[in-house]
Amino acid sequence: MNIVTRFPPSPTGFLHVGSLRTALYNYLYARKHQGTFIVRVEDTDRERLVEGAVESLIHTLEKVGLEYDQGPIIKDGILSEKGENGPYTQSLRLPIYQEYVKTLLEKGNAYYCFCSKDRLTQLRSTQQLAKLPTKYDRHCVGLKNEEVKKRLEAGESSVIRLRVPEGETTFIDEIRGSIKINNAEIDDQVLMKADGYPTYHLAVVVDDHLMGVTHIIRGEEWISSVPKHVMLYNAFGFPMPAFAHLPLILNPDKSKLSKRQGDVGIEDFLEKGYLPEALVNFVTLLGFNPSGDREIYSMQELIDTFELSNVNKSGAVFDKDKLNWMNGQYIRAMDPAELYERAKSFFGEAQTLPESQKKRILEVEKDRLVMLLDLEERVGMYLTLPLYDAQMLVWKKADTQDSLMHLGALSQLLTGVDESIFQDRVLIEEVIKKYIEEGGFQNGNVLWPLRATLSGQQQSAGPFDLLWALGKEVALSRLAIAIEKLST
Ligand code: GLU
Ligand code: ZN
Repeated sequence: MNIVTRFPPSPTGFLHVGSLRTALYNYLYARKHQGTFIVRVEDTDRERLVEGAVESLIHTLEKVGLEYDQGPIIKDGILSEKGENGPYTQSLRLPIYQEYVKTLLEKGNAYYCFCSKDRLTQLRSTQQLAKLPTKYDRHCVGLKNEEVKKRLEAGESSVIRLRVPEGETTFIDEIRGSIKINNAEIDDQVLMKADGYPTYHLAVVVDDHLMGVTHIIRGEEWISSVPKHVMLYNAFGFPMPAFAHLPLILNPDKSKLSKRQGDVGIEDFLEKGYLPEALVNFVTLLGFNPSGDREIYSMQELIDTFELSNVNKSGAVFDKDKLNWMNGQYIRAMDPAELYERAKSFFGEAQTLPESQKKRILEVEKDRLVMLLDLEERVGMYLTLPLYDAQMLVWKKADTQDSLMHLGALSQLLTGVDESIFQDRVLIEEVIKKYIEEGGFQNGNVLWPLRATLSGQQQSAGPFDLLWALGKEVALSRLAIAIEKLST
């Protein structure tokens, strides 16, 4: 069997962490089984549409490396699509839904309902008051064909509802096992709205069938819709796909994960310089445990290890500290040239420094970065020496005279050193270490004042790294400033 999965977002805004996880699992599952992965735009809820959301989604999927075989694409700046099962945007498929709902009407699996909004609101509040489940009361189920025809011809507004059959509905969820529900609990769902658009339920079933979807993998919030979908599959006589519903994603306090974009929007994480590889790795492990304690996986490794049977049933905690840790791991493990390409827009005011120097700064600072955006804050001191107090130049076990003596000696030493030494961190280190050894000094007496001189900060990268990243000229000028500060 050719496995076909799909990711069908509604274009209502940004890509949520939870949606990325859904997309990823569908992608991983399809790739693992050499199947097909489809992206589809579910835009039948016309009131919730957000301008530009589809384009933004396509870009984000591309940035995180989620390649799909069929679906909307941007070609030469214009929204277009690829694949033989299109259109992949539901608003472009309206005649298809019309046709399918007609067969349901003919078979008696659906019926017209002319109830007004007022009547339905009234019904609802009566039921609520009586503490009954709120459900459509099937007021229109028995309307005769002639009457329906007349009212339609008169232009009366109507919807089409599913006629829920009696009995029970059973389905198997790949993650949760067998689920059974009494049909009496299920509402006669609207399938076709008065505006001529299908509801999600009709469109999703028709499209998944026509697009050959074999595995429906999505968030747990959709599990309560499955019985209605199963009824539709049965009514149409479509073969049943496999269902897999993913556990909720939770905050550390076990509440449901926030929907605020800044906290959970993938676009925002990318903009702050979280690496796509880290996001993919982290998000995949929300609810999926490969095996053992290993945490770092490439996309290919995730494809190889992914199994629906290893997806957890219970909620997955979104641990931002872990994401931060993981992003740092990826930053530090990345090839320096590649990292520079990713980081080069994050130099802020230090953008004007020569490229060779920015590359060194990145190498020096990368150990302290959580996200690439942190660079912006860290690069300032390479551009301008921060204001600092002379006292900072004195090591806790030394005094002003001692610092002054060493800084003077180092200034002399470095003035005499060939420029080429500054091209190599190891050589710089050798020069300074030799000075310490030959003089029989303590590391702290020399390295503390040197580091503070170069950074103007209480905490910073080490002195050898700073000499390398700042270069001879700037290092000597900062030494002169420190000596001046200590002498007055
Ligand atoms: N359009 C739905 C959503 O926005 C898709 C649900 C499904 O996967 O069936 O999540
Ligand atoms: Zn009605």
